[in-house]
Amino acid sequence: MRKGIAVSPGVAVGTAYCINQVYVSPTAQRKLAHTEISAELARYETARDMTAADLRAFERKVASQVGPEEAAIFAVHESILWDAAFTKKIRAWIVDERLTAPAALSRLMDEYTERFSGASEEFLKERLNDVRDVVMRLSAHLSDVLKPDGEPLEGNVIVVAEELLPSQAVALGNVDVHGIVTQTGSQTSHAAIIARSRGIPAVSGVAGILKQVKTGDPIVVDGRTGHVIVEPDSEVLTAYRKLEREFVNLKNELAANRYEPAHLKDGTPLQLLANINSVHDAQTAAAMGASGVGLFRTEYLYLTHPDVPDEEEQYCAYCDIFDAAPGKTVTVRTLDIGGDKTIPYLGHRHQEANPFLGWRSIRLSFEHPEFFMTQIRAILRAQEHAVRHGGTLRLMFPMITTLEELLRVRKIVRRCCQKLEEAGKPYARPPLGIMIEVPAAAVTIPTMLKYCDFVSVGSNDLVQYLMAADRDNPKVNHLCDSLAPAVLRTLQRVIRCCNRADKPITVCGEMAGKLSSFVLLTGMGLRSFSMSPAFVPTIKDLAAHITVEQAEAIFKRACRMTTTSRVKNFLHEELEKIAPELGALQTD
Ligand code: PEP
Ligand code: MG
Repeated sequence: MRKGIAVSPGVAVGTAYCINQVYVSPTAQRKLAHTEISAELARYETARDMTAADLRAFERKVASQVGPEEAAIFAVHESILWDAAFTKKIRAWIVDERLTAPAALSRLMDEYTERFSGASEEFLKERLNDVRDVVMRLSAHLSDVLKPDGEPLEGNVIVVAEELLPSQAVALGNVDVHGIVTQTGSQTSHAAIIARSRGIPAVSGVAGILKQVKTGDPIVVDGRTGHVIVEPDSEVLTAYRKLEREFVNLKNELAANRYEPAHLKDGTPLQLLANINSVHDAQTAAAMGASGVGLFRTEYLYLTHPDVPDEEEQYCAYCDIFDAAPGKTVTVRTLDIGGDKTIPYLGHRHQEANPFLGWRSIRLSFEHPEFFMTQIRAILRAQEHAVRHGGTLRLMFPMITTLEELLRVRKIVRRCCQKLEEAGKPYARPPLGIMIEVPAAAVTIPTMLKYCDFVSVGSNDLVQYLMAADRDNPKVNHLCDSLAPAVLRTLQRVIRCCNRADKPITVCGEMAGKLSSFVLLTGMGLRSFSMSPAFVPTIKDLAAHITVEQAEAIFKRACRMTTTSRVKNFLHEELEKIAPELGALQTD
């Protein structure tokens, strides 16, 4: 049994599927017959030609949309693909050792990993990632994801990965994933975000798990406690299967409240909105009973796109999201890349010393004005579509730190309107909002409010910056706690300032969907919450168990507590009294 960080609640029992290892199915592990060798070589060469064609197409598009420097990475990948040593090894293994092409690629990856992964030079490690990228593209052309050689895995799929990249998550889009385990990552890294938005039990931060598990192994994921069990014995399996059934039943029971409006026990209405990354999530949000979308993370559009989406593609994507979303309101956040999410063609190949304090989010958008304006133009055009269909988009900017930045984005939006006007393209101006994620912005909130239409608190980032503790670093994870007294005081002030100025405010960080912080935020006067769709039914149920008066009293008492652990214990006890049955749907 291994222990990691519980990042998405629930229990799943199934079969491991390891990403980032080339999957060599049992059939592909066999030796080729002599008569099959030339066909296998031809199969490899076809896959290589297809990969090369993909890479060239990506390069052309990124060069025209972003710049030639940014597109250079695809040329590097193509040179690896045609590298003589690389090709020679693969050919030799197919011809002399009669390995199948996937088996040869798998051996090549093992060889390179052994040679380079211990290297101290950053350059060599990057090179290894480039080779892996090429190998994964090649093997994707050799086989269907999860069904190499038409051999599906038996049992429910539990994905095991170093970190689940968005592109991989999309590749798995049609596969019914029942659980996710990652070696790295934390509560707020994107594997966790994807898992929660789909309601899939997940555990992160299980160091070395890929060395202990192979595709096809039976595995159990307990997303409440953070336990992962590889090759469980039959008693353990039976016990966990029972827990899995109970989890699914409870979830289904709660989802029955989806058509009821959200309100507190005393009738106070609430907005329970969804955080989404895709059209699929928008549909889930509707199915879970969210009343709108409080955060559409548009970076997933870029991260899952093979190259860079142009204005037309983005326009269509935003319209599709609007059409699928509940409540006819979608808050669209502009590109928030950097930190833990990287796009190689936007200059994020080279590690910064402090990525979360560095060149990320709106800072990066400012440095690529054309690129930024393409996105804003697409959103303004999609707003026209939304208005025509009786709804609205809201345009939101991440990681605003100073008033100057806010004024600058307003100017850019004006310029985009002008450009669309000149081009004769229909558009409409959406409300403009800012995310409060940086303490500097939280401190100066009264000034900021004069220049924006709404506010959304990105508590995942606000907590890490307030506590000076990297949200993805397990060593300092204990500090990254949204129930810390410093966090609660900051939030209380921001919420109070917004309520007094009559500016709509939402909290869209993960704390909005957690039982204990939901109670405290309600006590602070917050009435709009945006969370992973899977949490909407649970929070709706909890809301119906408490009154404003109760929530205020709980918050008042929590405010008098001077340590995080006291606040936590206190809330744990209160929740046991209010809604004991909901505990199973929470992570520890
Ligand atoms: C946040 O920081 O709270 C947030 C919602 O944004 P992200 O998690 O995408 O950084
Ligand atoms: Mg953020």
